[in-house]
Amino acid sequence: MRVLIVEDEPAYVDALTVAFEREGFEASAALDGRQAVVSFLERAPDIVLLDLMLPELSGLDVLRRIRSESEVPVIVLSAKDAESDVVTALELGADDYLTKPYSVRELLARVHAAMRRAPGTGATGDEEHRTLTVGNAVLDPDRYQLRLGDLVFDLPRKEFEVMDALMTERGRIVPRDRLLDEIWGITWTDSKTLDQHIRRLRRKLEQADGAPRIETVRGVGYRLDA
Ligand code: CA
Repeated sequence: MRVLIVEDEPAYVDALTVAFEREGFEASAALDGRQAVVSFLERAPDIVLLDLMLPELSGLDVLRRIRSESEVPVIVLSAKDAESDVVTALELGADDYLTKPYSVRELLARVHAAMRRAPGTGATGDEEHRTLTVGNAVLDPDRYQLRLGDLVFDLPRKEFEVMDALMTERGRIVPRDRLLDEIWGITWTDSKTLDQHIRRLRRKLEQADGAPRIETVRGVGYRLDA
């Protein structure tokens, strides 16, 4: 799967490139509107992430050009004060939008959803019901639920995203910075909120016998051990 990231802020480009490559995408980036149109025609991406405020050619103009050629899924990434542009983008055929600062995991979820809906992207089927299982813990992204044997927890969104990251990387260390960048956005300022989310998840996991445990790896991050 190829993703085209159209974004003029290098920090966002870097974070998105890393995150999408980790998910198995082949990522390319365009830093302005003109480059976006050229890259789109050259690379025929399977999905486009499109910032609206761009140099050279606006995101809306890029979207018009894309839609004159293709029905590829397009997710618009916009600043908070650009609501009318978002409405226009949706009218022009954008599939979804997120407002900055957004979380990369939220964006990944939207991307998978958009690709499921799109015909002919090859992403249907196995992406349909992406539950994660570690030991007796089952994470259900359709219901935002964590099941531990007979216990069922409805997780708040951010808690779900933390658990999703830890379960995806089971047995491996997930750095704190990565969790903060991906879940609270690259502009996060207070890392204590992550500690609170880890604490709440641990309390849930402790209620079930044989549930995986979240280990703290000092100075680095966390690891989920079955
Ligand atoms: Ca921008």
